[in-house]
Order: sequence, then C-alpha cells, then structure tokens
Amino acid sequence: MRPDFDVVIAGGGLAGAATAALLATAAATAALRIVVLEPARPQRPLPGEPLDLRVSMLSRSSQRLLEQSGAWPAVAARGAADCQRMVIWDERGSPRGSGALSFDAADCGEPDLGHLVENRTAQAALLDCAEAAGVVILGAGLASLAPSPAAIRVTASDGRRIEAALLVGADGSGSVTRQLAGIATREHDYRQQAIVAHLGCELWHRDTAWQRFLAGGPLALLPLADGRVSLVWSAASAEAAALVALDDAEFSRRVTAASAGVLGRLEPTTSRRAFPLRLRQALRHAGERVVLVGDAAQTVHPLAGQGVNLGLQDVAALTDVLGAALAAGGDPGDPRVLRRYERWRRAATGPMILALDAIQRLFAGSDPLQSWLRRRGLGLVDATPGAKRLLVRHALGLAGEVPRSLQPARGG
Ligand SMILES: Cc1cc2nc3c(=O)[nH]c(=O)nc-3n(C[C@H](O)[C@H](O)[C@H](O)COP(=O)(O)OP(=O)(O)OC[C@H]3O[C@@H](n4cnc5c(N)ncnc54)[C@H](O)[C@@H]3O)c2cc1C
Repeated sequence: MRPDFDVVIAGGGLAGAATAALLATAAATAALRIVVLEPARPQRPLPGEPLDLRVSMLSRSSQRLLEQSGAWPAVAARGAADCQRMVIWDERGSPRGSGALSFDAADCGEPDLGHLVENRTAQAALLDCAEAAGVVILGAGLASLAPSPAAIRVTASDGRRIEAALLVGADGSGSVTRQLAGIATREHDYRQQAIVAHLGCELWHRDTAWQRFLAGGPLALLPLADGRVSLVWSAASAEAAALVALDDAEFSRRVTAASAGVLGRLEPTTSRRAFPLRLRQALRHAGERVVLVGDAAQTVHPLAGQGVNLGLQDVAALTDVLGAALAAGGDPGDPRVLRRYERWRRAATGPMILALDAIQRLFAGSDPLQSWLRRRGLGLVDATPGAKRLLVRHALGLAGEVPRSLQPARGG
C-alpha cells in the first residue's frame, strides 16, 4: 500500500521549513506529498514590530534557496542588510594595522558578502511558501518512529500516526529523530556561551562585519539595516553569565572596550541572551528511511556564521538527490538514494567542521607567541588576494559541488 505521505519532516526551523519549501517548489520534487511536524510555528512579525534577537548572516547560496522557494521578498521587506566588508583582527592587533584580515566584496568580484536576516521572518516565510505549495503543517512534534523496508511510521506528540517513504530529521541540535534513529554524534563542549543583543553605535558600521578575536572568544558586530549592529560575543560560560546580568551602562562600557572602540560607544537597545556553544556532529547523515539536515546533522561554533548556511546546503543537496531519484522512477527512501545524499554531505561538511573547530581552538587563549602567529597568519592571508577570493567563495557557498537547485540559471 502507498504510504500517506512521501516525506515527513520533523522540525520546521530554518532547515525544516527550507526543506518543505524547496521540495514543494522545485520542479523535480514538486509532486511529493509532504507533511511537517513543528510544535512551535512562528508567525511573521507585524510591520513595525521590533527586530528579534536571532538574526543570521545568509550566504549567496542560502539567499538563492530562499529566492527559489519564493520566501526572499518577505525576508527582504523586513530588512535584509547586505554586508559589503568583513574585518577580522586579533586582540593584540588593530583593525586597521598589519595583522588584520579584511575582505571587500568589490575586490573579490562579488556584489556583497551576505545578508543579515531575521531568523523568524525567514522561517515563517518559508513555511508560508511551503503551505501555499500544498505542504501540510501540523502543530505537534515527532514522538516515535518505526522504519520498515517499505515505509517509515512516525507517531506525533498528539498521538497522530503518519506513514511516509522518508523521514527528514530537521529538529535541531538535540534532534529526537537522530536519537530515535540510533545515529551517534561526536561532541565537544566549548564551555562558552554566545551573548546576543542589538546595539546602537556611535560610528556608522559601514556595512561591515567586524570580528575581534579575544582571549575568551570572538566578538562580532554585524551590520543591521537600521544602522545598529547585532552583537555575537562568545565568552567563557561564567563570564558570559556575568555579562548578561550587568546593567546597561556597565555592559555598554564593557562591550565598547572589548570591541576596541572600533564603532565608538556601543549602547544596548535590546535585552541580552546567551546560547551555550557546543560542536555536535552526527556520525551519519542517513539511517533506515531517515536523513538528517541542519543542526540535527551538525551544530557548529557561530564564529564564521555558517550554521544555517551549512543546513540550507544540506537541504539543496537532498532536493537534488530526491529529484534525480524521482526522475528515475525511484523510491525517495531507497537506501541507495540516501547513501548518495550522505556521501555528498559528509564530503562537503567534514572539512568545514574541522576548519571551524581548528579556528576556534587556534584563536582561543592569550599566549603571546600564539597571538603573534595569529597576527602573522591573518596578515599573510590578507596579502594574498587569490586566497581571499577563494575563502569568500567558500563562505558564500559558491565553491565545490553546488546543488543544481541553487545554481543561478535555475534560480529566481
Ligand atoms: C548566537 C548564534 C549566532 C548564529 N549566527 C549564525 C549566522 O550568522 N549564520 C548562520 O548561518 N548560522 C548562525 N547560527 C547557527 C544557526 O542559528 C543554526 O544553525 C540554525 O538556526 C539551525 O536551524 P535548524 O532548523 O537546523 O534548527 P533549529 O533552529 O533548532 O530548529 C529546530 C526546529 O525543530 C523543532 N523541534 C524540536 N523538537 C522537535 C520534535 N521532536 N519534533 C518536531 N520538531 C521539533 C523546534 O521547535 C524548531 O523549530 C548562529 C547560532 C548561534 C547560537
């Protein structure tokens, strides 16, 4: 008997919402019958509602995915700040001296280095697009699963039972899907928390993402469309908790000093939140009639702003692989199809995860020799335009095997 749905997606965060929207709108997969289980669906913010604290720097390939799915206009209308430059420097260096690394979109032959967007707007817009294209969205979570050679049966937290050919686990870092499918993880606790807040700044941010590597962790100031900056400050857990608890005046003093005054005085305009940071990498991207996408597959340090972007590349690769399987008359949950997805994503995410982890370790600590090496390294890369262009193409998701569903000719 044919299962109720072809694909059931556990989780409607950015990765799950994008999976539903792209599968439902890409020509090769539009015929799939899809259901999303999401217990906490967000609403699109009303015009004039303050910007939420959770924002993400989306790469060009992530932007293409949103364009392809029809979600980009709603995201742009809410204010998607384009980032034109990036400046990275070590605590003992200076943002303008030798030993700083700067990227300029124009010098790298790119229109921009990414856009800073509000997570809940992107998530809500993707879910709306998916729903408009026929996807069913249920307000319940995944509670159990039982795969068989012919289908996978899942039970939702409201007791509903659904049978599908394939389960996509997009339920975030603590993925229930991953645990129920018996997929183990490699983990490292950074013992850091990332403090986020939006700050007013005395000097114009110049459409630039500023990142200073401090002994306790990186501090980033990302440009918002309204002239403020979004702070992501990673610090040892105890220090982060103390920073969150400070009053506004003292926090302003501390964050201005920690950013070396690069944008003059910084003033908090929102509350502050801290997120614990941990590397978590699933040892497999696929199991029996199950695949993982997004943070369920890999959760990385936010120092390079790559978490959502890696997740959306998972989604695009899965769409390509399922599209090819359907064109050949195949079953979307066939183990050979899922192995192809797994091979592709492991080859693409493995080196990126290693690199992010290595950068985090190299840039932590206040040893003077290590700091000198960091400044030399940043300066050397800065003086090598070819290396800078390559790094930018990687960060924008334009290097390596770009999924067909994200190639420009098919987008828009
Ligand atoms: C401080 C900080 C800054 C960051 N900045 C950036 C950035 O600039 N750029 C970038 O690319 N990345 C960034 N990231 C990473 C990014 O936020 C994550 O990679 C991304 O949000 C993960 O999306 P996801 O959909 O995979 O998971 P989640 O956002 O965790 O979504 C999971 C969804 O699953 C649902 N769910 C949970 N349990 C169940 C269940 N049992 N059944 C069904 N559904 C369930 C949840 O309600 C949720 O909606 C940052 C992260 C942090 C902490």
